[in-house]
Amino acid sequence: MEKRFIPYGRQWIEEDDIQAVVEVLKGDYLTTGPKIKEFEDKLAQYTGAKYAVAVSNGTAALHAACFAAGIKEGDEVITTPITFAASANCILYMGAKPVFADIDPKTYNIDPKDIEAKITEKTKAIIPVHFTGLPCDMDEILKIAKKYNLVVIDDGAHALGTTYKDRKVGSMTDMTTFSFHPVKHITTGEGGAITTNDEDYYRSLTLFRTHGITRNEKELIRSKEPWYYEQQFLGYNYRITDIQAALGISQINKLDRFLGLRKEYVRRYNEAFGGLDTVDIPFQPDFADSAWHLYIIRLKLEKLDCSRKQIFEELQSRNIGVNVHYIPVYYHPYYSQLGYKKGICPNAEDLYERIITLPLFPKMEEEDVQYIISNVKEVLQKHALVK
Ligand SMILES: *Cc1c(COP(=O)(O)O)cnc(C)c1O
Repeated sequence: MEKRFIPYGRQWIEEDDIQAVVEVLKGDYLTTGPKIKEFEDKLAQYTGAKYAVAVSNGTAALHAACFAAGIKEGDEVITTPITFAASANCILYMGAKPVFADIDPKTYNIDPKDIEAKITEKTKAIIPVHFTGLPCDMDEILKIAKKYNLVVIDDGAHALGTTYKDRKVGSMTDMTTFSFHPVKHITTGEGGAITTNDEDYYRSLTLFRTHGITRNEKELIRSKEPWYYEQQFLGYNYRITDIQAALGISQINKLDRFLGLRKEYVRRYNEAFGGLDTVDIPFQPDFADSAWHLYIIRLKLEKLDCSRKQIFEELQSRNIGVNVHYIPVYYHPYYSQLGYKKGICPNAEDLYERIITLPLFPKMEEEDVQYIISNVKEVLQKHALVK
Protein backbone atom coordinates (compact mmCIF):
# COMPACT_ATOMS: atom_id res chain seq x y z
CA MET A 1 0.00 0.00 0.00
CA GLU A 2 1.21 3.49 -0.89
CA LYS A 3 2.22 5.51 2.18
CA ARG A 4 0.10 8.65 2.53
CA PHE A 5 1.96 11.98 2.41
CA ILE A 6 3.38 13.12 5.78
CA PRO A 7 3.71 16.95 5.87
CA TYR A 8 6.60 18.62 7.74
CA GLY A 9 4.15 20.21 10.15
CA ARG A 10 0.44 20.51 10.73
CA GLN A 11 -2.18 21.48 13.28
CA TRP A 12 -4.03 19.24 15.71
CA ILE A 13 -7.66 20.29 16.09
CA GLU A 14 -9.83 18.22 18.44
CA GLU A 15 -13.55 18.22 19.21
CA ASP A 16 -13.23 20.65 22.14
CA ASP A 17 -11.36 23.15 19.93
CA ILE A 18 -14.27 23.03 17.49
CA GLN A 19 -16.80 23.49 20.31
CA ALA A 20 -14.89 26.54 21.60
CA VAL A 21 -15.14 28.18 18.17
CA VAL A 22 -18.81 27.26 17.71
CA GLU A 23 -19.68 28.92 21.03
CA VAL A 24 -18.19 32.21 19.89
CA LEU A 25 -20.04 31.97 16.58
CA LYS A 26 -23.31 31.69 18.50
CA GLY A 27 -22.44 34.59 20.84
CA ASP A 28 -22.44 38.38 20.65
CA TYR A 29 -18.86 39.16 19.69
CA LEU A 30 -17.07 37.80 16.65
CA THR A 31 -14.28 40.34 17.11
CA THR A 32 -13.09 42.90 19.70
CA GLY A 33 -14.85 40.86 22.40
CA PRO A 34 -13.81 39.21 25.67
CA LYS A 35 -12.04 36.16 24.19
CA ILE A 36 -9.13 38.27 23.02
CA LYS A 37 -8.20 39.52 26.48
CA GLU A 38 -8.67 36.00 27.86
CA PHE A 39 -6.26 34.62 25.25
CA GLU A 40 -3.78 37.42 25.94
CA ASP A 41 -3.91 36.73 29.68
CA LYS A 42 -3.19 33.05 29.04
CA LEU A 43 -0.23 33.92 26.82
CA ALA A 44 1.18 36.35 29.35
CA GLN A 45 0.78 33.82 32.12
CA TYR A 46 2.36 31.01 30.10
CA THR A 47 5.40 33.01 29.01
CA GLY A 48 5.83 34.86 32.30
CA ALA A 49 5.43 38.26 30.60
CA LYS A 50 3.47 41.13 32.13
CA TYR A 51 1.50 41.88 28.96
CA ALA A 52 0.47 40.13 25.75
CA VAL A 53 -1.13 41.67 22.65
CA ALA A 54 -2.77 39.28 20.18
CA VAL A 55 -2.74 40.32 16.52
CA SER A 56 -3.72 38.97 13.10
CA ASN A 57 -0.50 37.05 12.40
CA GLY A 58 3.16 36.69 13.38
CA THR A 59 4.31 39.13 10.71
CA ALA A 60 1.95 41.81 12.05
CA ALA A 61 3.41 41.07 15.50
CA LEU A 62 6.92 41.77 14.19
CA HIS A 63 5.74 44.94 12.43
CA ALA A 64 4.01 46.17 15.60
CA ALA A 65 7.08 45.45 17.74
CA CYS A 66 9.35 47.33 15.32
CA PHE A 67 6.93 50.27 15.43
CA ALA A 68 6.76 50.27 19.24
CA ALA A 69 10.56 50.13 19.40
CA GLY A 70 10.68 53.34 17.38
CA ILE A 71 12.66 51.87 14.49
CA LYS A 72 12.74 54.40 11.66
CA GLU A 73 14.32 55.35 8.37
CA GLY A 74 18.09 55.46 8.59
CA ASP A 75 18.27 52.89 11.41
CA GLU A 76 20.00 49.53 11.10
CA VAL A 77 18.60 46.40 12.73
CA ILE A 78 20.60 43.20 13.09
CA THR A 79 19.01 39.81 12.46
CA THR A 80 19.86 36.32 11.20
CA PRO A 81 19.65 35.19 7.56
CA ILE A 82 18.49 31.69 8.62
CA THR A 83 14.86 32.61 9.22
CA PHE A 84 11.57 33.20 7.47
CA ALA A 85 11.64 36.41 5.43
CA ALA A 86 9.21 38.14 7.82
CA SER A 87 11.93 38.57 10.50
CA ALA A 88 13.78 40.91 8.12
CA ASN A 89 10.83 42.30 6.15
CA CYS A 90 9.49 43.97 9.30
CA ILE A 91 12.68 46.08 9.38
CA LEU A 92 12.05 47.17 5.77
CA TYR A 93 8.44 48.09 6.68
CA MET A 94 9.90 50.78 8.96
CA GLY A 95 12.19 52.11 6.22
CA ALA A 96 15.19 50.77 8.17
CA LYS A 97 18.00 48.52 6.95
CA PRO A 98 18.30 44.82 7.85
CA VAL A 99 21.90 43.89 8.66
CA PHE A 100 22.59 40.15 8.68
CA ALA A 101 24.85 38.65 11.33
CA ASP A 102 26.18 35.15 10.76
CA ILE A 103 25.08 32.05 12.64
CA ASP A 104 27.00 29.81 15.00
CA PRO A 105 27.64 26.64 12.95
CA LYS A 106 26.96 24.48 16.01
CA THR A 107 23.58 25.85 17.12
CA TYR A 108 22.50 27.46 13.79
CA ASN A 109 21.37 30.49 15.84
CA ILE A 110 22.68 34.04 15.42
CA ASP A 111 26.24 34.35 16.74
CA PRO A 112 26.55 37.07 19.43
CA LYS A 113 30.17 37.72 18.34
CA ASP A 114 29.02 38.56 14.82
CA ILE A 115 26.21 40.75 16.18
CA GLU A 116 28.80 42.84 17.98
CA ALA A 117 31.00 42.95 14.86
CA LYS A 118 28.12 44.36 12.78
CA ILE A 119 27.11 47.16 15.16
CA THR A 120 27.51 50.72 13.82
CA GLU A 121 26.36 54.09 15.17
CA LYS A 122 23.13 53.53 13.19
CA THR A 123 22.24 50.24 14.90
CA LYS A 124 18.97 50.55 16.79
CA ALA A 125 17.82 47.01 17.54
CA ILE A 126 18.54 43.28 17.36
CA ILE A 127 15.99 40.70 16.21
CA PRO A 128 17.32 37.28 17.24
CA VAL A 129 15.29 34.25 16.12
CA HIS A 130 15.13 31.12 18.27
CA PHE A 131 15.56 28.95 15.20
CA THR A 132 13.81 25.52 15.35
CA GLY A 133 12.86 26.36 18.96
CA LEU A 134 16.43 26.36 20.27
CA PRO A 135 16.91 29.50 22.37
CA CYS A 136 19.61 31.96 21.31
CA ASP A 137 22.32 32.69 23.84
CA MET A 138 20.22 35.43 25.43
CA ASP A 139 22.58 36.46 28.24
CA GLU A 140 25.25 37.26 25.62
CA ILE A 141 22.77 39.09 23.39
CA LEU A 142 21.28 41.09 26.27
CA LYS A 143 24.78 42.04 27.42
CA ILE A 144 25.56 43.45 23.96
CA ALA A 145 22.20 45.24 23.83
CA LYS A 146 22.91 46.90 27.15
CA LYS A 147 26.43 47.90 26.16
CA TYR A 148 25.26 49.60 22.94
CA ASN A 149 21.80 50.68 24.16
CA LEU A 150 19.86 48.55 21.64
CA VAL A 151 16.29 47.27 21.72
CA VAL A 152 15.91 43.47 21.60
CA ILE A 153 12.86 42.00 19.85
CA ASP A 154 13.14 38.23 19.78
CA ASP A 155 11.19 36.38 17.08
CA GLY A 156 9.70 33.51 19.07
CA ALA A 157 7.66 32.04 16.20
CA HIS A 158 9.50 28.71 16.73
CA ALA A 159 9.80 28.99 20.47
CA LEU A 160 6.46 29.09 22.29
CA GLY A 161 7.31 26.93 25.32
CA THR A 162 11.09 27.18 24.95
CA THR A 163 13.12 27.70 28.12
CA TYR A 164 16.51 29.45 28.30
CA LYS A 165 18.22 28.62 31.60
CA ASP A 166 15.21 29.05 33.92
CA ARG A 167 13.38 31.66 31.82
CA LYS A 168 10.64 31.14 29.22
CA VAL A 169 10.97 32.77 25.82
CA GLY A 170 8.56 35.71 25.93
CA SER A 171 9.72 37.36 29.14
CA MET A 172 13.43 38.05 28.66
CA THR A 173 13.65 40.91 26.17
CA ASP A 174 11.92 44.21 25.33
CA MET A 175 9.38 42.38 23.19
CA THR A 176 8.89 38.81 21.90
CA THR A 177 6.73 37.91 18.90
CA PHE A 178 4.85 34.67 18.27
CA SER A 179 2.93 33.11 15.37
CA PHE A 180 -0.09 30.81 15.50
CA HIS A 181 0.04 29.62 11.90
CA PRO A 182 -1.07 25.95 11.64
CA VAL A 183 2.51 24.60 11.43
CA LYS A 184 3.51 26.31 14.70
CA HIS A 185 3.06 24.95 18.24
CA ILE A 186 -0.55 26.07 18.64
CA THR A 187 -2.82 27.54 16.02
CA THR A 188 -5.56 30.11 15.57
CA GLY A 189 -5.64 29.62 11.76
CA GLU A 190 -3.75 32.85 11.23
CA GLY A 191 -2.66 34.72 14.33
CA GLY A 192 0.20 36.17 16.30
CA ALA A 193 1.10 37.98 19.50
CA ILE A 194 3.67 40.19 21.15
CA THR A 195 4.62 39.81 24.80
CA THR A 196 6.35 42.53 26.82
CA ASN A 197 7.01 43.63 30.39
CA ASP A 198 6.94 47.32 29.47
CA GLU A 199 3.77 49.38 29.83
CA ASP A 200 4.72 51.96 27.17
CA TYR A 201 5.41 49.27 24.59
CA TYR A 202 2.13 47.62 25.56
CA ARG A 203 0.17 50.80 24.96
CA SER A 204 1.88 51.44 21.62
CA LEU A 205 1.23 47.87 20.47
CA THR A 206 -2.49 47.94 21.34
CA LEU A 207 -2.98 51.22 19.46
CA PHE A 208 -0.90 50.12 16.47
CA ARG A 209 -3.16 47.05 16.15
CA THR A 210 -6.17 49.29 15.66
CA HIS A 211 -5.23 52.22 13.38
CA GLY A 212 -3.42 54.17 16.11
CA ILE A 213 -6.88 55.00 17.48
CA THR A 214 -7.76 55.22 21.18
CA ARG A 215 -10.99 55.81 23.09
CA ASN A 216 -9.31 55.63 26.47
CA GLU A 217 -10.18 58.88 28.21
CA LYS A 218 -6.90 59.06 30.10
CA GLU A 219 -4.93 58.88 26.84
CA LEU A 220 -6.82 61.49 24.81
CA ILE A 221 -4.80 64.45 23.63
CA ARG A 222 -7.74 66.71 22.82
CA SER A 223 -11.50 66.55 23.41
CA LYS A 224 -13.33 64.58 26.08
CA GLU A 225 -16.81 64.37 24.50
CA PRO A 226 -18.55 61.04 25.14
CA TRP A 227 -18.49 60.04 21.43
CA TYR A 228 -14.91 61.10 20.94
CA TYR A 229 -12.07 58.87 19.77
CA GLU A 230 -8.77 59.91 18.44
CA GLN A 231 -6.13 58.71 15.97
CA GLN A 232 -2.73 59.54 17.37
CA PHE A 233 -0.45 57.93 14.78
CA LEU A 234 -0.70 55.81 11.64
CA GLY A 235 -1.58 52.27 12.73
CA TYR A 236 -3.13 49.31 10.92
CA ASN A 237 -6.03 46.93 11.30
CA TYR A 238 -4.03 44.03 12.71
CA ARG A 239 -6.78 42.73 15.00
CA ILE A 240 -7.38 39.07 15.69
CA THR A 241 -11.00 37.84 15.95
CA ASP A 242 -12.73 36.32 18.97
CA ILE A 243 -13.30 33.22 16.83
CA GLN A 244 -9.53 32.82 16.54
CA ALA A 245 -8.87 33.78 20.16
CA ALA A 246 -11.30 31.08 21.36
CA LEU A 247 -9.35 28.52 19.34
CA GLY A 248 -6.12 29.90 20.78
CA ILE A 249 -7.38 29.52 24.37
CA SER A 250 -8.43 25.94 23.73
CA GLN A 251 -5.08 25.19 22.05
CA ILE A 252 -2.82 26.79 24.66
CA ASN A 253 -4.40 24.53 27.28
CA LYS A 254 -2.89 21.62 25.30
CA LEU A 255 0.49 23.20 24.65
CA ASP A 256 2.42 21.20 27.24
CA ARG A 257 0.98 17.93 25.92
CA PHE A 258 1.94 18.96 22.36
CA LEU A 259 5.46 19.91 23.48
CA GLY A 260 5.88 16.56 25.24
CA LEU A 261 5.00 14.68 22.06
CA ARG A 262 7.39 16.79 19.96
CA LYS A 263 10.15 16.06 22.46
CA GLU A 264 9.45 12.34 22.37
CA TYR A 265 9.63 12.21 18.54
CA VAL A 266 12.89 14.17 18.64
CA ARG A 267 14.29 11.67 21.13
CA ARG A 268 13.40 8.89 18.66
CA TYR A 269 14.99 10.76 15.73
CA ASN A 270 18.15 11.52 17.70
CA GLU A 271 18.45 7.91 18.78
CA ALA A 272 17.99 6.71 15.18
CA PHE A 273 20.26 9.24 13.42
CA GLY A 274 22.76 10.03 16.17
CA GLY A 275 25.04 7.12 15.28
CA LEU A 276 25.09 7.75 11.53
CA ASP A 277 28.30 8.87 9.88
CA THR A 278 26.48 10.81 7.15
CA VAL A 279 24.52 13.41 9.17
CA ASP A 280 24.73 15.72 12.16
CA ILE A 281 21.76 15.77 14.50
CA PRO A 282 20.71 19.00 16.27
CA PHE A 283 23.07 20.25 18.98
CA GLN A 284 21.57 21.16 22.36
CA PRO A 285 23.56 23.51 24.61
CA ASP A 286 23.13 23.07 28.38
CA PHE A 287 21.14 26.30 28.68
CA ALA A 288 18.45 25.10 26.26
CA ASP A 289 15.12 23.38 26.63
CA SER A 290 13.74 23.60 23.09
CA ALA A 291 10.07 23.67 22.09
CA TRP A 292 11.15 21.75 18.94
CA HIS A 293 9.28 23.49 16.15
CA LEU A 294 11.55 21.90 13.52
CA TYR A 295 13.83 18.87 13.33
CA ILE A 296 16.75 19.35 10.95
CA ILE A 297 19.44 16.94 9.80
CA ARG A 298 22.67 18.40 8.38
CA LEU A 299 24.21 16.22 5.70
CA LYS A 300 27.92 15.48 5.69
CA LEU A 301 28.12 15.86 1.92
CA GLU A 302 31.75 14.69 1.85
CA LYS A 303 30.54 11.28 3.12
CA LEU A 304 27.78 10.94 0.51
CA ASP A 305 27.94 10.04 -3.19
CA CYS A 306 25.18 12.48 -4.20
CA SER A 307 23.82 15.97 -3.67
CA ARG A 308 21.38 17.24 -1.04
CA LYS A 309 18.89 17.67 -3.86
CA GLN A 310 18.96 13.96 -4.65
CA ILE A 311 18.44 12.91 -1.02
CA PHE A 312 15.64 15.48 -0.77
CA GLU A 313 13.92 14.19 -3.90
CA GLU A 314 14.21 10.56 -2.85
CA LEU A 315 12.62 11.29 0.52
CA GLN A 316 9.93 13.36 -1.17
CA SER A 317 9.17 10.52 -3.59
CA ARG A 318 8.61 8.31 -0.54
CA ASN A 319 5.87 10.75 0.55
CA ILE A 320 7.92 12.29 3.34
CA GLY A 321 7.21 16.03 3.48
CA VAL A 322 10.81 17.18 3.68
CA ASN A 323 11.59 20.88 3.51
CA VAL A 324 14.54 23.27 3.72
CA HIS A 325 14.46 25.88 6.49
CA TYR A 326 15.63 28.34 5.35
CA ILE A 327 16.95 29.86 2.17
CA PRO A 328 19.13 32.68 3.58
CA VAL A 329 16.86 35.74 3.50
CA TYR A 330 19.29 37.84 1.47
CA TYR A 331 19.38 35.20 -1.34
CA HIS A 332 15.83 36.17 -2.36
CA PRO A 333 15.64 38.21 -5.58
CA TYR A 334 14.00 41.11 -3.73
CA TYR A 335 16.97 41.37 -1.37
CA SER A 336 19.47 41.03 -4.23
CA GLN A 337 17.73 43.97 -5.84
CA LEU A 338 18.30 45.93 -2.64
CA GLY A 339 22.02 45.24 -3.02
CA TYR A 340 22.63 42.24 -0.72
CA LYS A 341 25.19 39.82 -2.17
CA LYS A 342 26.37 36.27 -1.51
CA GLY A 343 29.20 36.04 0.99
CA ILE A 344 27.75 38.16 3.83
CA CYS A 345 27.30 35.19 6.20
CA PRO A 346 29.49 32.22 5.20
CA ASN A 347 28.30 29.91 8.00
CA ALA A 348 24.66 30.48 7.09
CA GLU A 349 25.40 29.90 3.41
CA ASP A 350 27.24 26.65 4.16
CA LEU A 351 24.41 25.44 6.42
CA TYR A 352 21.85 26.18 3.73
CA GLU A 353 23.62 23.77 1.32
CA ARG A 354 23.36 20.83 3.71
CA ILE A 355 20.11 20.89 5.66
CA ILE A 356 16.88 18.95 5.36
CA THR A 357 13.86 19.41 7.65
CA LEU A 358 12.03 16.19 8.56
CA PRO A 359 8.35 16.07 9.56
CA LEU A 360 7.66 16.93 13.21
CA PHE A 361 4.25 17.65 14.70
CA PRO A 362 2.37 16.33 17.73
CA LYS A 363 -0.29 14.49 15.74
CA MET A 364 2.29 12.27 14.02
CA GLU A 365 1.46 8.61 14.50
CA GLU A 366 3.88 6.00 15.78
CA GLU A 367 3.87 4.35 12.35
CA ASP A 368 4.75 7.71 10.72
CA VAL A 369 7.78 8.06 13.00
CA GLN A 370 8.90 4.52 12.24
CA TYR A 371 8.34 5.02 8.51
CA ILE A 372 10.36 8.25 8.44
CA ILE A 373 13.22 6.77 10.49
CA SER A 374 13.57 3.63 8.37
CA ASN A 375 13.31 5.50 5.06
CA VAL A 376 15.77 8.26 6.00
CA LYS A 377 18.24 5.63 7.19
CA GLU A 378 17.76 3.60 4.01
CA VAL A 379 18.28 6.56 1.67
CA LEU A 380 21.35 7.77 3.59
CA GLN A 381 22.82 4.26 3.71
CA LYS A 382 22.28 3.83 -0.04
CA HIS A 383 24.34 6.97 -0.73
CA ALA A 384 26.98 6.56 1.97
CA LEU A 385 30.50 6.40 0.53
CA VAL A 386 31.59 4.09 3.34
CA LYS A 387 28.95 1.40 3.82
C1 LIG B 1 6.00 31.71 10.91
C2 LIG B 1 7.08 32.69 11.15
C3 LIG B 1 6.86 34.08 11.09
C4 LIG B 1 5.61 34.71 10.57
O1 LIG B 1 4.44 34.32 11.15
P1 LIG B 1 3.06 34.44 10.33
O2 LIG B 1 2.04 34.15 11.40
O3 LIG B 1 3.08 33.41 9.26
O4 LIG B 1 2.94 35.82 9.80
C5 LIG B 1 7.89 34.92 11.45
N1 LIG B 1 9.09 34.45 11.80
C6 LIG B 1 9.36 33.13 11.82
C7 LIG B 1 10.72 32.67 12.23
C8 LIG B 1 8.37 32.22 11.48
O5 LIG B 1 8.66 30.90 11.48
